[in-house]
Amino acid sequence: MILIDNYGSGIHAFDAQYERPLRVAIHLVIDNGRVAIIDAAHNASTPLTLGALAQLGFKPEDVDYVCLTHVHLDHAGGAGVLMRECRNAKLVVHPRGARHMADPSQLMAGVKAVYGNEEAERRYGELIPVPEERIIAAADETSLKLGNRELLCLDTPGHARHHLCFYDATANTVFTGDVFGVSYRELDIDGQQSVLVTSSPVQFEPQAMRDSIRRILALQPEVLYLTHFSQLREPVARGDDLLRQIDAYVAIAEKAGADDGGRCQRITDGLWQFFDEEAQRRGWTLPREERRALLALDADLNSQGLDVWLKSRAKA
Ligand SMILES: [Zn+2]
Repeated sequence: MILIDNYGSGIHAFDAQYERPLRVAIHLVIDNGRVAIIDAAHNASTPLTLGALAQLGFKPEDVDYVCLTHVHLDHAGGAGVLMRECRNAKLVVHPRGARHMADPSQLMAGVKAVYGNEEAERRYGELIPVPEERIIAAADETSLKLGNRELLCLDTPGHARHHLCFYDATANTVFTGDVFGVSYRELDIDGQQSVLVTSSPVQFEPQAMRDSIRRILALQPEVLYLTHFSQLREPVARGDDLLRQIDAYVAIAEKAGADDGGRCQRITDGLWQFFDEEAQRRGWTLPREERRALLALDADLNSQGLDVWLKSRAKA
C-alpha cells in the first residue's frame, strides 16, 4: 500500500521516496477519469507513481499529462521512464527545458558538475529521452484541458529560467515546483508551517523570484502544492516570509565579498547562521543536529546558487 494524501478537489499526493521520506512529493490531479501528474521525481519513483495510480483505480493510459515544473532532476529525472509507461500522455515542460527532455545528455552533465560523476549516477541512473512529438513546450498561459478542468501554465522564473507553475482554478490552487520555496514537514510546529527559499544553481534570480511569488499570490490561491513538500497553507503569510528571505540571501551573498575561492564557504556559513535565526523566529523544536542534517543539502545547493548568481551578475 502506498500512502496517498487525498486533499479533495481531485488532488492527491504521495511521497516519491527521493533520497529520504518527505523530500519530494508527486501530485496527481484527477478530473472526469483523466489524470495529470505534477513532477516525476527520479526513475526509482515511477513504480510508486504507477502503484498510486492503480490504487486510485487508474491505468497508465488514463494519464493525459506529465507536467514538469522544471527540469532539475529531482523533478524531471524520472520523466522519460514514466512517459514510456503512460502511453497517451504528453510531457508538459517550459520551452527552455523541452530540448533537454528530448536529449538529456546536457542535464546529466550539469548534474555531474554539481554532485560529481558517481553521486549523479547513484541519484539518477540513466536518463531516458522523451520523443519530441510527445513534448508540449508550454509558453506562458498555455492552457491544458484535463477532463472538465483547465490547468494553466505560468512562466515563473527566479529559481530557474525553465520553471512553470500550474494554476488549477477549479481547486483554487497552484502547483509551485520550487519557486515558492520548500516547506519541510519536519519543521512544522503545531500545524504552523515554515518555508525556505531555494536558490540552487545555476539560474537563481532574486528579482524574478519576487515577481513570480507575487504573481502566484495575485491569483489568491487557497493553498499551494510544493514539490518539497506538498500542501502549503496560508500562502500570503508564507509569501511574506519568502520575500524577506530573498533579501536576506542577497545580503548574505553580497557580504561574502570577493570571488577568491573561499566565497562559497562564507555564503554557506552565512546561510547556517540565517537558518539558526529562522529556527528561533519560527520556534522550530527539531534539535540543532537534526536540523543541520535536514538542511545540509539545501545549505550546500543554496550557497552554490548564490555564488553562481554573484558571478553572473559581475559578468553582466
Ligand atoms: Zn529545482
